[in-house]
Amino acid sequence: MKAFVLRATGGLEHTAVAEVPEPRAPGLGEVRVALRAAALNHLDLFVVNGLPGLPRTLPHILGSDGAGVVEQVGADSPWRPGDAVMVNPGISDYTCEFCRKGEHSLCVDYGILGEHHPGLMAQYVNVPAHNLARIPPLDPALTWAEAAAFSLVSLTAWRMVVTRAAVHAGEWVLVWGIGGGVSLAAMRIAKLLGARVIATSSSDAKLERARALGADVTLNHRTQSVVAEVRTLTAKRGVDIVVENVGEATWADSLRSLAKGGRIVTCGGTSGPKLVTDVRPLFWHQFSILGSTMGNAREYAAVVEQLGQGQLRPIVDAEFALADARQAFERLEQGAQLGKIAITVAA
Ligand SMILES: [Zn+2]
Repeated sequence: MKAFVLRATGGLEHTAVAEVPEPRAPGLGEVRVALRAAALNHLDLFVVNGLPGLPRTLPHILGSDGAGVVEQVGADSPWRPGDAVMVNPGISDYTCEFCRKGEHSLCVDYGILGEHHPGLMAQYVNVPAHNLARIPPLDPALTWAEAAAFSLVSLTAWRMVVTRAAVHAGEWVLVWGIGGGVSLAAMRIAKLLGARVIATSSSDAKLERARALGADVTLNHRTQSVVAEVRTLTAKRGVDIVVENVGEATWADSLRSLAKGGRIVTCGGTSGPKLVTDVRPLFWHQFSILGSTMGNAREYAAVVEQLGQGQLRPIVDAEFALADARQAFERLEQGAQLGKIAITVAA
């Protein structure tokens, strides 16, 4: 089968569209999906550039997000060939103490398709049956690219905003870098909950789109002081929640933007991983710093249900054919997108 693979870590020059073996017949509880589209996440660039100990084998099939059609089912699977499905890329063992409590993204053996396991930028993938969700019927119907673009960012943002930060109506939420998929999903989920959202970007065009998608206030973090503007907007109080995935470049300003008792929820650090936190405001103002990764099966079901109700329909920035996957990665690397970049895989 054709797949977009990484042959060595260290940059996009080590990627290629290649012929690789098809997955074996699906085993107990497994399903083989014929992919119709995949979607990119910043995680893919981390994998391309190299994470400690990853990928486990080379060549490695990239891509954590995808949607397609069930092609073959192993024993003990509720799916049938022909079912149109989206893939939750978080792989858990369903047996450890955290899984037994329903916290699958805390699994002791947690891994992500495209990072720890072969990914979805391929014609076929085998996945556990419980990682699939039926693509909800919408009018107009979701495109394959939209369906592929949904899972990782929506699930991640849902756990961050709903479960970890527990955002509620009327609260102020600051979201950095609205062009990013998790940021955009977090903004839309916070709006569903009735929060007031301040979105930032370095691009006025992206900020205009953010306003159209529900941002109450937008700030250009290249030309404006986010901390000063937040103070003015909130009558010196600060925001209740900061949604972080930028890391080094924004962390100090995130802390300075918080109201007393505020919480920061983070799922990553695209600008760098080492954060400096002054403990004095942390304890005196009783801030909470909340880590968050992906989500559990219950959260995935909840976010798919929202999609079925017509909410959180993915914003697709651009679509590329599998043969042009490298160009898709270059667009992501340049940060030119608002929303998701998808890769279509021919039937
Ligand atoms: Zn587990």
